[in-house]
Amino acid sequence: MFDLALVHAGELVTCAGESETAEEELSVVEDGALLVSGGKIAWIGTTKQLRQKSIGKVERTVDALGNLVTPGLVDPHTHAIFAGSREDELERKISGENYMSILARGGGILRTVRETRASTIAGLVGESKRRLDQLLMNGVTTMEVKTGYGLDLAGESHMLAAIRRLKAETAVELVPTFLGLHARPPGAGGSHGYVDSVIRNVLPAIAEMKDRPVFSDSFCEEGVFTATECSRYLRASRDLGFALKIHADEFAESGGAALAAEVGCVSADHLGRSSRNGIRAMAERGVTAVLLPGTSFFSSIPYADARGISAAGCKVALGTDLSPNSWVESPQLVMSLGCMEMKMSPAHALLGFTKYAARAVARDDLGVLAVGSQADFVVHEVSSYRFLPYRVGGSYVRKVFKRGRQAYHAGED
Ligand SMILES: [Zn+2]
Repeated sequence: MFDLALVHAGELVTCAGESETAEEELSVVEDGALLVSGGKIAWIGTTKQLRQKSIGKVERTVDALGNLVTPGLVDPHTHAIFAGSREDELERKISGENYMSILARGGGILRTVRETRASTIAGLVGESKRRLDQLLMNGVTTMEVKTGYGLDLAGESHMLAAIRRLKAETAVELVPTFLGLHARPPGAGGSHGYVDSVIRNVLPAIAEMKDRPVFSDSFCEEGVFTATECSRYLRASRDLGFALKIHADEFAESGGAALAAEVGCVSADHLGRSSRNGIRAMAERGVTAVLLPGTSFFSSIPYADARGISAAGCKVALGTDLSPNSWVESPQLVMSLGCMEMKMSPAHALLGFTKYAARAVARDDLGVLAVGSQADFVVHEVSSYRFLPYRVGGSYVRKVFKRGRQAYHAGED
């Protein structure tokens, strides 16, 4: 017996092809159908093939009515767990202040740290849940969520407690990351003392927690943490069994891409200013590049060279980087920016939010629709995947399924 059958997907985008071109890699089945059993894809083909099969009883049949069906979107880079907001900083940015000068004056990340530390767990969960709901309504079924607004053990534990509670309260699957080096707390000075204390005191305590985060991450950037500091932190994280991520070369070439390759990061993220050698090293080590054009848009900084990074041999994922600095809840907008500002093709942009985003969170059972993969998929009320970066600002996601169960539907079901 099957739990669910989906029929008449005008385009069933599986992302399961193996090919040099992004279009072929999408591996689109016309008038596609699939079967779900035990939360996983049990069969995939055309509606006609399904009609010719004797499949026995099916609990529920969903008619996609000729609409587009894609894998559930995976957002591989977010700071979605935070308290408060920073809408006035938009005006400061318009008046000419930049991200780094706002941070240096106690705004930016440091302001969110103050507000997050002062929040209750229930408050933090409530605010964050509204953002996760928005992402779900836009077709996101899995997202990475970072800590990093605590900056000490108590603050980071507070965030992890909120994430633990959110896991039980949302249909979106959360992949937690401990962002141990995000900003230097006020008074910590520029010495290595703060980094040492994180490595010695905070990191091992986080590693001991039950339900500990999968990834450990650091912000390698001129004026934030140096490549040497991040190297020590990431190696210590690796020794404690964490998988690694890094914020690399967002504002300036800081050696982040090369370090990602050296320590074996699963992904290196941002990469707007990375050197060619750094990118080449990442390609050799199989480090996935996570590009975040929504942040380039909100911080008025250069967009990453998506085509060059891809041509060098790196797989390219896209993420929202949802945070109080770049409050982006729409993967569709990010795909648009990827296409218009970084000259990605619509097929490449969609692979960036599915197959390669899953790779950036080390999950090969997500981001594709193939037999055995998790049955996460989205019915979009458009006829082709080419609409995703093309039609922006409205809402056309009609149904979202997580592990074969409907997690969201728009309007009448
Ligand atoms: Zn980030």
